[in-house]
Amino acid sequence: VIALRDVSLTLGEGASSVHVLKGVSLDVASGEATGIVGPSGSGKSTLLMVLAGLERVDQGTVRIAGELLNGKSEDQIASFRGRNIGIVFQSFHLIPNMTALENVAVPLELAGHADPFGVATRELGAVGLSDRVTHYPGELSGGEQQRVAIARALAPSPRILIADEPTGNLDQATGKQIADLLFAKAAERGMTLVLVTHDPALAARCSRQVSMRSGRIEDAPRPVKVPA
Ligand code: ATP
Ligand code: MG
Repeated sequence: VIALRDVSLTLGEGASSVHVLKGVSLDVASGEATGIVGPSGSGKSTLLMVLAGLERVDQGTVRIAGELLNGKSEDQIASFRGRNIGIVFQSFHLIPNMTALENVAVPLELAGHADPFGVATRELGAVGLSDRVTHYPGELSGGEQQRVAIARALAPSPRILIADEPTGNLDQATGKQIADLLFAKAAERGMTLVLVTHDPALAARCSRQVSMRSGRIEDAPRPVKVPA
């Protein structure tokens, strides 16, 4: 469902320009959970931005859900993203002056959904927040805010869920609950999950791990079973 071929990307101008992705190829099968690991600055978040169509590449091809993103206009990419990709960030990215319900419903409404508030109510219920729908983000704990962000990402029924350090701002117990929720929803709905994490335990729960180093992917060798 994801096929990147020889993707290169330089960000920034002049003296502050950085060759962030240096010929990255990555295939992800539908329904797979991929954990991306690697040192700070190795290009993990940038790779997710490319997968989400939020960053255009200088070279190479980006094919997501059968569609080549390279030649599409900004509007086409935005509409493609709305239908196919849900995104969860480390710092939640909720809109502070909107309630939990509005944070989930308003993007659906803008996309022309027939029943945005009905779907948002159901999605908040599915992440265990039925009793927090009228709360503002500032009135919610970090774990609760991340649940709202997950409900928002899931609401359009995307095929692919992308998460950049989804547990990075949470304590260990809350982080585990959020990870459990992400894996459960992805499995339940047959979604492809691509997540970046610095937590080896979270990466180990993915069906596959990919490690990045200095803008390149090195597929981590699968653990070899030593015969007894
Ligand atoms: P972390 O684990 O710390 O989140 P990361 O692997 O997600 O790191 P990226 O955010 O993808 O790393 O950044 C990769 C490199 O690209 C970094 O060295 C960063 O400074 C550089 N970079 C990112 N965005 C820009 C930009 N807009 N202009 C210039 N350089 C950038
Ligand atoms: Mg990052």
